[in-house]
Amino acid sequence: MPRPIPLEKIRNIGIMAHIDAGKTTCSERILFYSGKSYKIGETHEGSATMDYMAQEQERGITISSAATAVSWNGYQISLIDTPGHVDFTAEVERSLRVLDGAVALFCAVGGVQPQSEQVWRQSEKYEVPKLCMVNKMDRVGANFFTVVKEIRETLNGNPVSMVCPIGAGETFVGVVDLMTMRALIFDEASHGMTVLDEDIPAELQEQCEEMRAEMVEKAAEQDEALLEKYFETGELSIPEIKKGLRIGTISRNLVPTYCGTAFKNKGVQPLLNAVIDYMPSPLDVGTIRSSDNPDMIREPKDDAPFSALAFKILTDKHMGKIVFIRIYSGTINVGDTVLNSSMGEKGRFGRLFRMHANHQEALEVAHAGDIVAVVGVPKTRTGDTFCSLEHPIVLEAIEFPAPVISIAIRPSSRHDNEKLGLALHALAQEDPTFVVNYDPETSETIISGMGELHLEIIVDRLKREFAVAAEVGRPEVAYRETLRHTVEGAYKHSKQTGGRGQFANVSLKLEPQDPGRGFTFVNEVKGGVIPVEYISAVEKGVIKAMHAGPCGGYPVVDVKVTVFDGSYHEVDSSEFAFIEAARQCFKSLFLKANPQILEPVMAVEVAVPEDYMGAATGSICQRRGRVDGMDDKYGTKLVRGFVPLGEMFGYSNSIRTMTQGRGSFSMVFERYEGVPFELAEQIMEKRKAAGKVR
Ligand code: GDP
Repeated sequence: MPRPIPLEKIRNIGIMAHIDAGKTTCSERILFYSGKSYKIGETHEGSATMDYMAQEQERGITISSAATAVSWNGYQISLIDTPGHVDFTAEVERSLRVLDGAVALFCAVGGVQPQSEQVWRQSEKYEVPKLCMVNKMDRVGANFFTVVKEIRETLNGNPVSMVCPIGAGETFVGVVDLMTMRALIFDEASHGMTVLDEDIPAELQEQCEEMRAEMVEKAAEQDEALLEKYFETGELSIPEIKKGLRIGTISRNLVPTYCGTAFKNKGVQPLLNAVIDYMPSPLDVGTIRSSDNPDMIREPKDDAPFSALAFKILTDKHMGKIVFIRIYSGTINVGDTVLNSSMGEKGRFGRLFRMHANHQEALEVAHAGDIVAVVGVPKTRTGDTFCSLEHPIVLEAIEFPAPVISIAIRPSSRHDNEKLGLALHALAQEDPTFVVNYDPETSETIISGMGELHLEIIVDRLKREFAVAAEVGRPEVAYRETLRHTVEGAYKHSKQTGGRGQFANVSLKLEPQDPGRGFTFVNEVKGGVIPVEYISAVEKGVIKAMHAGPCGGYPVVDVKVTVFDGSYHEVDSSEFAFIEAARQCFKSLFLKANPQILEPVMAVEVAVPEDYMGAATGSICQRRGRVDGMDDKYGTKLVRGFVPLGEMFGYSNSIRTMTQGRGSFSMVFERYEGVPFELAEQIMEKRKAAGKVR
């Protein structure tokens, strides 16, 4: 079946923003103007169509990145929802991985806020072309030009103003389209559906001409032929300007910048037009590579072998697991059997859907460039690759940050026990930054995530979606353990307890690896001194020991383990004996390898009025932090620094008290660092007393 919409008319985009900048409202308006959502919903009334889960609406934040398809002027736009809260970085990363372009949304009063900076940086990492939208132009103090300046200075972007606001705050009525030099006035009675096309207000004429000249110049700079013509004639036609700007946007040399107010229904349609004019199609994005073989590629063509990436998993009461995939190449039909190449398992796409704001469209077939939901592959994890059976490929996976905070969780009753395990497992499959560990010795389940809010929401979902009642402990820092020296040695496990004995003898070498490298296991055993079938037992034993490290029972990271010697006994050796020998060997060597406990360190930004500067700086230093820089923004002082997460619990209260409610802060995980010696001693003692070190 031929594709209904040509590839060049497909746009897969996301809106990225600081929380509260108006992302949900803006998405709503996009659905409204493109005719798929007939009712204008307000997020504060909790009726936003993009927000899937009940508690998101209650909290007024968007957690999941569901994808919604809309059509605009014959183009198909998939709107991939990205969350604005940094506790959900994984959600942002996974959506950035599959979208082709993004709209960065800013508040016209707040401008570039700490979290918009973080998301901007992430989008640069994934080389995502962007448009900017300065929202909330109706608010008192709104200033388009200040925000444009901040995009340039704080974010290092190259914003090109595409519109000039007409009025600001209460007087904001619309924008001058600098391309056509016409004033677009958005009619309030029709929710902005009717747009009046008027002459430019006289007092803006000169300013708009200057702005337009700048826009044309930047467009010309993107292409030699255009530049030549521009030098010769001093002018470019509208298609030529658009061409230049499109080249510049897709190559990430510039960012077309718009303004409006989603809430008051002004300025949204020009943004939709811009998505079509300047955002890349899957064709512009081009080929995608295999993660382990850079020469193996897939082209965005319908007749290429099928490949797709699972980027989001939702559990639906009626349909079960819904997996959102981005198709990079090929064509897929309902009922087709595909390979989950990340897991090495076959699966069948029982149903295919395109998700719209208020209904699901069942599909028979989906093509390269499409973003669709599939049902029938319940074991899928976020980040898995699907491909055709005949042409296996594993696409570059999505990178996820490590969880930094843990809490103990227990079922409220015996009845909830089993349900809790199943529910946690399901949630962990959906969210790769949410990790569940069960400690059989203490019968404790520990859940770990990206922040307090992240875990709070998970516990909330347990109650709502899975009807599991659970109690949680206090949040604790997710420490890690690692080593600093290379050591090697042997361990012999030998027991004679009547009947068959136990015997295993292994020699291991433990070496530190660069931060983030994780665990590497190498087999250098020669001459079969340990039979091949026991090598995996050695690895199992090492992994078991690394699960709860010898210092404080925390996971061991960034270590290379080599098994290089050993011996066995024909009768008494067993898998169990080798597991045990390797575990003990690792443990004793690790303690000799100058081990270290690692803690998550957060990048913190505190915003306070000038009078509280000293107090804010002091509060960072008191918490074993270091101040990294200071800034001034709208008369507010910003203090930036790095502070260990363990010192940040309860910080929101203390900053409130310290500044009489006038200060605020935000934090993002930065990296793991070694804990100071004295604190490490305390941690180890506490953990030993609690029976966590074995
Ligand atoms: P999100 O957190 O980025 O999804 O932001 P929301 O869309 O939920 O908006 C946050 C708050 O800002 C809500 O109370 C909205 O009604 C309000 N809001 C959104 N857009 C505008 C706007 O253009 N002008 C004004 N004044 N308020 C807005």
